[in-house]
Amino acid sequence: MWPILTFLALGALLALHLWWRRKFLRARADAEREIESLKRQQEQSTFHHQVRQEAIFNSMVEGLLLLDERGRVQLANHAFAQLFELRADITGRTILEVLRLHELAEMVERLGPDRPWTSREMRLPGIVDLWLRISAAAIFSADGTRQGTILVFHNLTRLKQLERTREEFIANVSHELRTPLSHIKGYVETLLDGAKNDPDVSTRFLETIARNADRLELLIEDLLTISELESGRVTLRLQTVELHAAVAKVFDDFKSRAQARKIALTDETAAHTVHADPGRLEQVLSNLVDNAIKYGRPGGRVVVGARNTDDAKVEVSVKDDGVGLPPEALERVFERFYRVDKARSREQGGTGLGLAIVKHIVQGHGGKVWARSEPGKGATFYFTLPATEPTENGKVGKGEAGTQPG
Ligand code: ADP
Repeated sequence: MWPILTFLALGALLALHLWWRRKFLRARADAEREIESLKRQQEQSTFHHQVRQEAIFNSMVEGLLLLDERGRVQLANHAFAQLFELRADITGRTILEVLRLHELAEMVERLGPDRPWTSREMRLPGIVDLWLRISAAAIFSADGTRQGTILVFHNLTRLKQLERTREEFIANVSHELRTPLSHIKGYVETLLDGAKNDPDVSTRFLETIARNADRLELLIEDLLTISELESGRVTLRLQTVELHAAVAKVFDDFKSRAQARKIALTDETAAHTVHADPGRLEQVLSNLVDNAIKYGRPGGRVVVGARNTDDAKVEVSVKDDGVGLPPEALERVFERFYRVDKARSREQGGTGLGLAIVKHIVQGHGGKVWARSEPGKGATFYFTLPATEPTENGKVGKGEAGTQPG
């Protein structure tokens, strides 16, 4: 009896053991699966976090550089790479190895607990100077040990260029205003000092004063026009304009000036029509015809022509047979106050703004302006404007009112 009971007890114990073992193994496998899944979740979350961080860094317009505690690059965003035209991976390299900018390396080195943040402007000479505002901040842990540095690079180049253009413009304007003004003052003083008693001299002086006052007026008018056009708030009253009628009006205004220099004015614009603001178109034609007479050959010819282009535009040309322009001046003449011959321009009453005004107006219409010349043989100025179709009966299409920023 006992052996049987013992045998049964042992059998029960073995069964229990096997049951527990199976349960234990299953529980262990479940736990392992659980740990694996948690690990995967954590990895995924770290990966998403990194991707999000990189996306934020790379969407910044400012260049961003993160250095570790040894001053080696940990992270550089796209804007930074673009700013310094870097193509290779720079992770792990020092700022000096990457940029060769000692000033910048020193700036980072000087950061410390007493000076955790700094910012300065830097000019990097090149074909085009690069102007940067660089801000650097040291990163410290809670116990005060240096963890690394974060650097932000703000590109100021465009801003600096605008600032320089503005300063040059103000200097030019002041100079242009001062010249006729000092003439006026000088002649007035001489008159007051006694010259007024000589009728011949005083007439001559007063004429000079009047001429300089006219010059001042013209300059101020042109300056106001330029500032109005550059403000971008100009509204163009667009309509269909007969080119021929606009040219006739301008020729009429310049008739006596052309006669004084024995210059023949010829209109070859035929039946072209353009989509333009009539007042502004006349201003463009006036400035170009004025120049063609001023710089044209005495006894010569000024011809205004037109032709249709393939891209639904009308190309207008104003041609003279005067001194012409050297090749290097062909583009620069459209800059404010650029003159090939300063003395000649002033002597002719020029303000140096006429072609800049032409360029603004034409571009405001969506057109282009350019010049061609053979020095000594004359110059031709071209501009394009959107064409309008004449109606079937040969008359000009119905005028459309429209606006467009200048
Ligand atoms: P300005 O008032 O001095 O004429 P513009 O802006 O009208 O100013 O012209 C700029 C410069 O371009 C002139 O000073 C002159 O040197 C040159 N220029 C313009 N038109 C002609 C032309 N038809 N022939 C030769 N030079 C020209």
